Amino acid sequence: MRHVLPHRNSSFVPHVAEENRFDVVIVGAGPAGAAAALVLARAGLQVLVFERGEFPGSKNLFGGILYSTIVHRLLPGFWESAPVERHVTRRKFSMLGQEKELAFEFNCPAFNQPPYNHSFTVLRSQFDRWFAAQAEAAGAMLFNETVVDSLIFREGRVDGAIGRREDGEVHADVTLVAEGCNSMLALRHGFRKEFEPHRLQLAVKEMIGLPREVIDDRFQLVGDEGAAIEYLGGDAVQGLFGGAFIYTEKESLSVGVSCSLHDLAARKVTPHEVLEHFKKHPCVQPLLRGGEILEYSGHMIPEFGRETLPRIAGDGVLFLGDSAGLVNLSPFYHEGTNLAMASGVLAAETVLALKRAGKPMTAENLSAYTRRLAESFVLKDVSKYRRIPDFGVTHPQFFDRYPYLLTDLAKDFFTVSETPKGEIEKAIFRRLREEVGLFRLVRDLFAAARALR
Ligand SMILES: Cc1cc2nc3c(=O)[nH]c(=O)nc-3n(C[C@H](O)[C@H](O)[C@H](O)COP(=O)(O)OP(=O)(O)OC[C@H]3O[C@@H](n4cnc5c(N)ncnc54)[C@H](O)[C@@H]3O)c2cc1C
Repeated sequence: MRHVLPHRNSSFVPHVAEENRFDVVIVGAGPAGAAAALVLARAGLQVLVFERGEFPGSKNLFGGILYSTIVHRLLPGFWESAPVERHVTRRKFSMLGQEKELAFEFNCPAFNQPPYNHSFTVLRSQFDRWFAAQAEAAGAMLFNETVVDSLIFREGRVDGAIGRREDGEVHADVTLVAEGCNSMLALRHGFRKEFEPHRLQLAVKEMIGLPREVIDDRFQLVGDEGAAIEYLGGDAVQGLFGGAFIYTEKESLSVGVSCSLHDLAARKVTPHEVLEHFKKHPCVQPLLRGGEILEYSGHMIPEFGRETLPRIAGDGVLFLGDSAGLVNLSPFYHEGTNLAMASGVLAAETVLALKRAGKPMTAENLSAYTRRLAESFVLKDVSKYRRIPDFGVTHPQFFDRYPYLLTDLAKDFFTVSETPKGEIEKAIFRRLREEVGLFRLVRDLFAAARALR
């Protein structure tokens, strides 16, 4: 049967090969899929991208900071034309106890210069759409509102994908799956197992509208400077394994929480309840005062770690970005967008190298993608922080006990009285010894250092 796909959503009309056959089919037009599409289309390959959303980004959510080394490499000076909100100059890491906050803040006006430390707050509904449009302009074909339900197998190898639309059966030499965290294709076709609940974070976020000058004043920002606040465990998330965040956009704040699915189920609490608790905290409420909720959304974050990553290369198929579990799990970085884009570029480069060498897209040949990932920062960082999900299970005290205790001790330390300071310090030390024990504390600190090593 011969199909010719109707052309949609593109100002560029690529040559469509016979029998609905493309060089590459990509599932998902998030950062990973769009980066791959851009590189492949620029090289002259026929690329089709299926995106389930009304447009790329329409269903996507993150905190968040777009880490932009890769997008800058692909589109130098992209911030001049891309819909970015603010560049991040202020970062704060905070611990909440009951009615208390202990924080570490880093402010760096030097990040005001291009390339702005490669960190911008963006709204995904705008940025992803823009980024995918760059791939379209390079010649990739984008089909929105098309969910891919399954891959096509021919003689034991993947030979394309089936999009839920008329004539949606599309064949390809190689298929790149970039459908995000909950990759149903990976599960359906045996590339990953069912998630273990402690290896999945469930996040909910609200976009809260506030006038620009209010945001500038509250977060001490000048011009397009932006702030990012990460709250680690403690009262921010009612002691669950997870954290909360506030990011500043031009005229809104992204405010959310993200918690281990395992802990949410065990404590029988919903992410919505955790978010409401966070927003009411006396150290958080003043930052949000007067804001109007513009949007509410939820999403999952994979926390596989290196040892439990899904299989990412097969005959005729590669998995990219979150679908491959490529997320930096460090509580200090929370990087995913750059790893996703880097994996898209590395997958595209692998495919191009095989094409140029006239080699087939076998699992063995495509495994060069895994090697490229391993040589890059992507797998090095995924590997470095691989122990964090298990650490969250074995050391819940870092999330449910220590933040409360440390903020209490800070209160004791700063409470003004006529008690001599030496006695205050001794009392703090005594409390630490009684409530935790010095041996236990040292052992726990070693374990934390090991998880972050
Ligand atoms: C709350 C939260 C906060 C985060 N904060 C940050 C942050 O501050 N900085 C950072 O770098 N990262 C952050 N991340 C992680 C980051 O968002 C992801 O790592 C990144 O978006 C992964 O990109 P991706 O292209 O692999 O997947 P996605 O961005 O999830 O894109 C997948 C795309 O595929 C489409 N799709 C899915 N299934 C199908 C299908 N079957 N058929 C067709 N299309 C499909 C989707 O609609 C989507 O467009 C955060 C994530 C969350 C949830």
